[in-house]
Amino acid sequence: MMPAPTVSDKVDGEARARLKPRATSVAPADSRTSPFPHPIVNAMTVDVEDYFHVSAFDGIVSRAAWESLESRVCGNTERLLDLFERSGIRATFFVLGWVANRFPDLVRTIAAAGHEVASHGYHHQLLYLLTPQQFRDDVRAAKHVIEDTIGKPVLGFRAPSYSIIESSLWALDILIEEGYRYDASIFPIHHDRYGIPDFPRHAHTLQRSAGALIEIPASTIRLGRLNLPVAGGGYFRLFPYAWTRWGIRRVNRIERKPVVFYLHPWEIDPNQPRLRVGLATRLRHYTGLGRTSQRLVRLLSEFRFDSVASALDVAPEGIPG
Ligand SMILES: [Zn+2]
Repeated sequence: MMPAPTVSDKVDGEARARLKPRATSVAPADSRTSPFPHPIVNAMTVDVEDYFHVSAFDGIVSRAAWESLESRVCGNTERLLDLFERSGIRATFFVLGWVANRFPDLVRTIAAAGHEVASHGYHHQLLYLLTPQQFRDDVRAAKHVIEDTIGKPVLGFRAPSYSIIESSLWALDILIEEGYRYDASIFPIHHDRYGIPDFPRHAHTLQRSAGALIEIPASTIRLGRLNLPVAGGGYFRLFPYAWTRWGIRRVNRIERKPVVFYLHPWEIDPNQPRLRVGLATRLRHYTGLGRTSQRLVRLLSEFRFDSVASALDVAPEGIPG
């Protein structure tokens, strides 16, 4: 089923024009001057949180314990910044408000390197477990602390664990009311913990009762009647690299659309403290940590990336009123 009738994915002509993927000036066939096979610029995104913030650990790591656990988010994020700098790309960093409050210098370093800083909420709470007022308080606090830290407006939001699902679509209106311009929280797949399987797969403008919001879904490929995830996170670590490369090429070449790739700083950290969790969580969280940064370097050499705001042309002046 499609989302509730209050959701419209009508795109007005102006917004559609502004949501066209940005192409570079390099001709696709000109392999002599460009190592990239296709000119589509994809979006690179990082959810800036520590290894103990992961939703699958909610049952064993209380919020009260966060301050006392070894934090590794600064070192891991700095390694990502270094990889991005060496590859000459900019990204969007969805920063947890808690991280911005505890490590403001990290967030200022991200911004100073030219990356977009956006919001991952404050306390990493699954939206569908919150009341609308609790969610409003959380995203307002996150936006304030990040904007105070970098001195620039925050345009984008990504929910912890892609937790905008059919029952929490009300969150989109709150994001608009709290001044967010785009959301990147909907994964159009079947999954045990998130997903709206029939949601439109590419960036589009939603007309909600509270106004307009650009929705930038997590990337998938369409195979038959199924959407399959291709761009990031556990799918990047657990599946062969060739799957991601094939999927991104397919979206770029056949659909002529950008993908939105995502990962977390803890995903390039094989030395993070191991938490005692069940087998499924252990496989999802700890598999492939040692190979992810090498894979990322390869990915950055094979595809073009930029921040969400740049790759999808989401700018304050580019948003329909
Ligand atoms: Zn997260």
